[in-house]
Amino acid sequence: MRTYHIWTIGCQMNVADSARLAAELEALGYRPVSRPEDADVVVLNTCVVRQSAEGRAVGRITSLQPLKTRRPLMVLAVMGCLVGVRRQDDLPQRFAHVDVFLPPSDPEPLLALLRQREQETRSKKQEATGNRQQARGQEWGTARVSQVTSPEAAAMGLIAPEPVWRLASCILPPVTAYVPVIYGCNHVCAYCIVPYRRGRERSRPVAEIVAEVQALVDQGVREVTLLGQIVDRYGHDWKGDGASAPPDLADLLRAVHGIEGLWRIRFLTSHPNYLSDRILDAVAELPKVCEHIEVPVQAGDDEVLRRMRRGYAVADYRALVQKIRQRLPDCSIATDVIVGFSGETEAQFQATYGLLAELKLDVVHVAAYSPRTGTLAAHRMVDDVLDEEKRRRLQAVEELQEQIVGQINRRLLGQAVEVLVEEQHKGKWRGRTRTNKLVFFRDDADWRGRLAVVRITWAGPWSMQGDVSQGVDHPNDQ
Ligand code: SAM
Ligand code: SF4
Repeated sequence: MRTYHIWTIGCQMNVADSARLAAELEALGYRPVSRPEDADVVVLNTCVVRQSAEGRAVGRITSLQPLKTRRPLMVLAVMGCLVGVRRQDDLPQRFAHVDVFLPPSDPEPLLALLRQREQETRSKKQEATGNRQQARGQEWGTARVSQVTSPEAAAMGLIAPEPVWRLASCILPPVTAYVPVIYGCNHVCAYCIVPYRRGRERSRPVAEIVAEVQALVDQGVREVTLLGQIVDRYGHDWKGDGASAPPDLADLLRAVHGIEGLWRIRFLTSHPNYLSDRILDAVAELPKVCEHIEVPVQAGDDEVLRRMRRGYAVADYRALVQKIRQRLPDCSIATDVIVGFSGETEAQFQATYGLLAELKLDVVHVAAYSPRTGTLAAHRMVDDVLDEEKRRRLQAVEELQEQIVGQINRRLLGQAVEVLVEEQHKGKWRGRTRTNKLVFFRDDADWRGRLAVVRITWAGPWSMQGDVSQGVDHPNDQ
């Protein structure tokens, strides 16, 4: 039996890319194993958004060199942002033990290599035996679910011409799945390496996304999260035909909403400049779309935002949060913040801290600024906030947010919330509310993949616990 092992770090897009690659490998007859030592194919899916992530990726690649020396036939592939859409030139020299480098969201170079190796092995066997039986490889690629070829996607050169929308084998199929809907990013935020590594934005056709989600639902998935670096720019890269505007995220949400058997839809990450009224209306009107919006602010000071090249001011963000709360009163809002960006003074940091204290958002992903070679900030600005100071600011935001989210969650004590149950963890069922809050409960019944009504009995900052009272039929299906 041929085997594979995939190691993934980084964003949800990487998780989605790894899931798709796993499915593609399984369509070729490979089975997953948990240790690289047992695998015929090892894939490292990398992230370089911060130096710490790049360091981990490089460490992991280097650590596999002795294994590759011991097992030269093992195929070692490196994927993701370390490679980039333009494939960083120095990688083959730096990591001579790696067989193949895959750009983000593009498994094809590895699949082509495996097909070629299989072909060579088969030819050798046939030569040796003189046996001209039909090649076994014809069994390959027998995807059991619907496949839709997308000439547009294939033309972009980044998506395999025949995507396999099959879930990789697991003991139990997952309840939730990520679905990339727009690749790349056209913004050039001064600190961010993503546009250089993931390329310009490219939206996937609505029909292709709907077919993929339908295939996932046919395999048991109940919740999908539509992904993009700026997901609310979905469709902005298409020109209208003059008569009608190209579809946007609101149209996509409506199209995906029509899929029977799908219960929940999420989308992330939104950029404040593109979260239109049309999108908020779609969230408000479509029952399957969850009240949960991830919209990073990055800083709470106008001068820092200007130097970051974010394209909005603090007042714009504040107004957006107010609008979301008016239109979607129960919506949870998550944000990202970078502390210690080049030139960030104590007063500017305090402005960010003050904004977070004022807005009281549900989640704050906080990161210490990490200069990335190739970005505007790394070339033109000085990384002048000391590491120790960055850590202090990061910790201050974390402590503030712990208090805020603790208060928000305690308001749910005694209330009944709808939880989509994903799995059992240490004897407890674990799932998420529509607002993406983690809830645990104990019960003897099998709740996996079901909607439960849970009365909250304990609320901490990072999770809640409760008692299950009943199941929910899927009211959102027409
Ligand atoms: N597209 C999203 C947006 O508009 O904010 C975010 C995508 S970015 C890949 C994910 C997060 O990584 C960012 O929100 C930012 O907080 C963080 N990040 C990106 N570059 C960083 C850097 N150089 N140092 C620290 N954090 C960084
Ligand atoms: Fe990076 Fe800015 Fe694009 Fe987000 S919007 S991926 S932070 S460049």
